[in-house]
This record gives sequence, structure tokens and C-alpha cells, in this order.
Amino acid sequence: MTLSPGATIGILGAGQLGRMLAMAAARLGLKTHVLAPESDGPAFDVAGSRTIAAYSDEAALARFAESVDVVTYEFENVPLACAEFLSERRPLRPNARALALMQDRLPEKNFLRDIGLETAPYMPVEDAGALARAVAALGRPAILKTRRFGYDGKGQAQVRDGSNLGALYRALGDEPKILEGFVRFEREVSAIAARGLTGEFAAFDLCENEHERHILARTQVPAAVARATELEARALARQVVDALDYVGVLAVEMFVVKSQGGERLVVNEIAPRVHNSGHWTIDGAETSQFEQHIRAIAGWPLGPTTRRGTIEMRNLIGQEANRWREILADPTLHLHLYGKIENRPGRKMGHTTRILPAGENERASPAPDA
Ligand code: AMP
Repeated sequence: MTLSPGATIGILGAGQLGRMLAMAAARLGLKTHVLAPESDGPAFDVAGSRTIAAYSDEAALARFAESVDVVTYEFENVPLACAEFLSERRPLRPNARALALMQDRLPEKNFLRDIGLETAPYMPVEDAGALARAVAALGRPAILKTRRFGYDGKGQAQVRDGSNLGALYRALGDEPKILEGFVRFEREVSAIAARGLTGEFAAFDLCENEHERHILARTQVPAAVARATELEARALARQVVDALDYVGVLAVEMFVVKSQGGERLVVNEIAPRVHNSGHWTIDGAETSQFEQHIRAIAGWPLGPTTRRGTIEMRNLIGQEANRWREILADPTLHLHLYGKIENRPGRKMGHTTRILPAGENERASPAPDA
């Protein structure tokens, strides 16, 4: 089912990703209806219709489904029951299988391994005894993670030499966890790619990401990796979306590891949505990741992903957004603010993008679309 201009896209979640999706949809003459439980989500400011309701409110979900032509989501923790309820009434893109898989680190890693991709070594951990066995098998340091609801480093703890395993296990609560072997990486990168309704594929140039206090601080494009690594990242993203019959934009977060004079990619996690490390595409690519997602879920042709220069995207976290006047005065910066009223430490309030002409400080040669 493909949409015509004037059709309505239902978006679950009202954060900044939903906001930027709604803005991209509006540019293409598509309407949006955002559903989320909180009333102050930044996406509500720009969507044509809103429903403030719990994801478990079936009456509200049924009305929402009636009012839209296709449903998508801006975060991966949409309750599965909600996604399935809506997918019985309207096309859900990306599909519920992709969502279910990426909500839980264990099936996600099993899937990646099954399609032949390398991940950190991992073991499920159901209790403190299992943690001791997993630490014995994977060594120290290692990283204990809750299987679900982890983001920006939440729900994680490092197992170090002197760590008390019982205390560490309890600190992350009762829920199921996995232990991951520690990957000694050179850099962190992400591939942002899209698959259309008829299976066509397009990827943006690989993004190189730096985190501060577990939150993405800076993305640079191109990534300082070998051309072979860039091509491998594209191929790997394509493998993931093809295996899931995926429709929409997807992000693959990876570690670049030095090996035998070359580089290897180790997949950390995949996200069934537009991604913070792809924000640079709004100003820095011929088609933004948001427009690309809208095109894909509308059943429209994907847009060109050509990069417009050498890019640096920086997140404005908490008080950093107070610098907006200074940023506006800098002609080399594009400013994006998400309209969040409450400014809390660690909260993503906006971002900036700087584009230098291609060639200046170029770090690697871009690869053509796979
Ligand atoms: P995640 O929530 O899985 O994205 O992890 C957050 C950050 O922790 C990553 O961006 C890495 O910097 C670091 N990290 C996560 N898993 C590992 C690992 N297995 N080895 C080394 N560093 C990791």
C-alpha cells in the first residue's frame, strides 16, 4: 500500500525524532498524527493531530488507527502489544518483528550472529550465579547490560577486576540481563540506511560517533575508516534490513576494531528508527534521514543520500542549548532546537551541524551507494 500526498502518517512517540519526522512529512504534503502518553512532547508542536493516551489504551489506539493510513514509531520501546494491535488495523512500518527483536538485546544479538555478523561475545545472565559463570567465561573487563530499556548508557555496569558481582547484579535490578565481553575498539561508527517497500536500499555515508557520559556528543562524516570498512558497513546494513523485510530507516551501531593491519566491524546494536547520529543529514545530505524514512514508509522512491561536504554534528545537551544566540551568530553552523520546555542535565535539547566544503579536512573517500 502506497500513500498519496494528503495521506496521514501515524507516529508513536512525541520526542524530537517524531518532531523531525513530522516536519519532513509536512514538506512532502503528508499529514501526521502523533500518539504519546505525555502531553509536552516536542513532536506535538508540529504534528497536525495529536492523541495523548497510554500505549495500552485500546479504545484510543483504535481511534488513532482509524485516522491514519500507515503507522510508524520514533522509539523502540513501544509496547509490543500496542504495535501488534495497530498492525492488525493499518500497515506498521517497520514491522512488529523488527521492533520485537530490537527491544531485547538477547534475541537481537542472536539474530545478528545467525545472519553471520560479528558482535561482542555475550551470554545471558539470569541470576548472580550465572553472572559469575559468564564472567569466568568472558573475562574482565566485561559489561553487564539489562536486556531491555537501555539507552544512553542506562541499565549498564562494567565488571572490573575488583567488582563485587552480587552487588553489581543487584544494582541493575531484577530484570534479565546479558554480559558482553569488552571490545577494545578504535572508534565507534553507525550506518544509517533505508529499505523501501519494494526492497530498494540506500545508505548514508558512515558516521563516526563520540560519546560523553554515555550520550552521543559528536558525529563526524566521513568516518576515518578504510574504504573497505565503509563498504562492509553498507553491505552489513543491507543484510540486516533484507533479513527482516524491513521498511524504513534503520541504524546499525558498530565498533571499529584493528585487526591484522586492517579493520573489522563488530556490531553493538541496531535501532529500528531514525537515529541521533543521522541528524547531520538534514543539512548535510541531499535527502535527510527523516525524509528518507517518510518516503520509505509511504511506499515512495528513496531519495539520493549524497553528502554535501565534510560534516560535524554536535548535540546540545542540557545547558549547552543556552548558547543558541552565539550559535546563531556563527554563519558556519545550522541550529536545531527541539522546543523542550524543561532543561535537565543530560537532556538532548537540540543540535548543530557544520558543513565544510567536501575535500577540506576530508578523512576518507566516500563510497558510492551500494
Ligand atoms: P549501548 O547502550 O549498548 O549502546 O552502549 C553504550 C556505550 O557503551 C557504547 O557506545 C560503547 O561506548 C560502550 N560499550 C557498550 N558495549 C560495549 C562493549 N561490549 N565493549 C566495549 N564498550 C562497549
